[in-house]
Amino acid sequence: MKCSYCEKTAVIYRRYEGRALCRRHFIHAFERIVKRTIRENHLIDRKKHIAVGLSGGKDSCALLYILHSITKDRPNIKLSAILVNEGIKGYRTEKHAKAISKKLGVPLHIAYFKKEWGKTLDMLMKQEKKNKASDNLKACTYCGTMRRFLLNKAARETGADTLAIGHNLDDEVQAIMANYIRGDLLRGVRLGANAFSIEDPRFIPRIKPLREVPEKEVAIYAMLKGLNADFGECPYAEESFRWDVRNILNDLETKYPGTKYSVLRTFDRIKPALEATVASFSNSGKIGTCKKCGEPASNDVCKVCELLARK
Ligand code: SF4
Ligand code: ZN
Repeated sequence: MKCSYCEKTAVIYRRYEGRALCRRHFIHAFERIVKRTIRENHLIDRKKHIAVGLSGGKDSCALLYILHSITKDRPNIKLSAILVNEGIKGYRTEKHAKAISKKLGVPLHIAYFKKEWGKTLDMLMKQEKKNKASDNLKACTYCGTMRRFLLNKAARETGADTLAIGHNLDDEVQAIMANYIRGDLLRGVRLGANAFSIEDPRFIPRIKPLREVPEKEVAIYAMLKGLNADFGECPYAEESFRWDVRNILNDLETKYPGTKYSVLRTFDRIKPALEATVASFSNSGKIGTCKKCGEPASNDVCKVCELLARK
């Protein structure tokens, strides 16, 4: 198939817009969307130190690569990377994150579940499986909460004023639909290019420059740029609720191209109303302190300490 803009062979056919793109036009279009997301949402305006959550997967490697190319001639912005090693045997390796940060000359900080809490995710899951009497929690419930906690803590400790996350269009739309299906749409205020940040200096604001590019395109971009990212899948992914939501959305996108963008745009339109609703009952957005670990918490004990207390 030929590129819709030139004579070259296409590397992708975007069904949602009915256009085929060659390597050059695809890279150009991809970077233009990411830069537009950054510009229109003021994601890096007045920022001094951006820490990128770097797992070594295609999304975070592509994000680090693009942010590096945007900031390398701006000495007023420091770029660093944070890898959270959850301790998932056969999946989480450090080599991809180490290689790309070294290649780009970006300092890498590594935070470990084991060091922070004395247990890897695998150990926590073994413990959870033994716990037959109660409702078994899935790995992603632990991992999502604990990783968010550790990324925030590491970003704060390294002096970053912004945390950049490699969430792509698919991640964002899955989160919107998952919240909707669970009847927790108000949680959606945390979604968006500039994630909802509670006015508290202990929370480092999060930005998502890739939220408007489909997962498949991030993978193609990472390959075309030779980023040597980790394309492996987490062994726990398939057991999660998110996995089912992801499959449903992929089926819908195949049958009705443009579904994912449609969900995203609709959500963005109703987000201001969600924010206003949350603000009206969240008593000035103040947040307390966990009495066990001292990190921010909405109740006496934070979500991580609550999870770790399960026997
Ligand atoms: Fe963690 Fe679940 Fe992602 Fe695996 S799939 S890394 S367990 S959140
Ligand atoms: Zn706590």
